[in-house]
Amino acid sequence: MTSPYQIDDPAFSQLIVGSAALDRLFTGCRWAEGPVWFDDMQCLLFSDIPNQRILRWTADAAGGGAVSTFRQPSQFANGNSRDRQGRLITCEHGTRRVVRTEADGSMTVLADQFRGKRLNSPNDVVVRSDGSIWFTDPSYGILSDYEGYQSAPEQPVRGVYRIDGTTGDIDCVADDFSQPNGLAFSPDESTLYIADSAASHDPAKPRHIRAFRVDGAGLTQGRVFALIDAGIPDGIRVDMAGNLWSSAADGVHCFAPDGRRLGKILVPEPVANLTFGGPRRNRLLITATSSLYAIYLTTTGAQRP
Ligand code: MG
Repeated sequence: MTSPYQIDDPAFSQLIVGSAALDRLFTGCRWAEGPVWFDDMQCLLFSDIPNQRILRWTADAAGGGAVSTFRQPSQFANGNSRDRQGRLITCEHGTRRVVRTEADGSMTVLADQFRGKRLNSPNDVVVRSDGSIWFTDPSYGILSDYEGYQSAPEQPVRGVYRIDGTTGDIDCVADDFSQPNGLAFSPDESTLYIADSAASHDPAKPRHIRAFRVDGAGLTQGRVFALIDAGIPDGIRVDMAGNLWSSAADGVHCFAPDGRRLGKILVPEPVANLTFGGPRRNRLLITATSSLYAIYLTTTGAQRP
């Protein structure tokens, strides 16, 4: 079997288990995205956007598992996360909103418009420990009827937004992205990383990840943190040491906190998103086009789910 690793920097060898294989846990999706780990149930929810479903992979003792349907139709759900109470937060392309699933299964709309106009198509979402909810709003879900419903954008920008955890007020915290996509906080939550994936539809446009200082309820000091040299950055996650793991066309790319690329986990299908899971949170769960993959690492995810 060929190695699933490309080591660009010796430090990468400390993060991977050399003998660990890339496992394919499930296949049969059209476009898998939005993985979120439920530690309390040892299961993963992830979206299959064009097939209008959220799937649930439940682990068994041997690290394999079974997949069932969690929600269908899913309103072309994409990114998922959990808030501090453990509730599921979901970005829906079809309804162009961010919703929370309550303990009784009912849905609460957290955001569906900004300044009186509909959002484009919320893509990915993270929750900070202060309860604020941060999401990106590119136009992918309204470009065609494949991952949502084709429509003209109402917003003048493709923004990044923050929902206040107490008041529910929505602020635009970044308005200069071409197509904002995945986002992730550093372990101390002082930095927010946000991917710009606009090269997906125009090679001249960004394929990079930006880093911002989190300044109260806003973002400052934006800078380009890393460039992706294969495809685009879509979903991203940060491990406990502050290394950033990004999706890419050839797999998952790992960057040190200083932006230096340490290496890649090579995956046979283009990767859209990833998250840390498993009983020890040392397993990277990877949604890649038609399939769900997993690989054990020596590091764990920065944030509890
Ligand atoms: Mg995305």
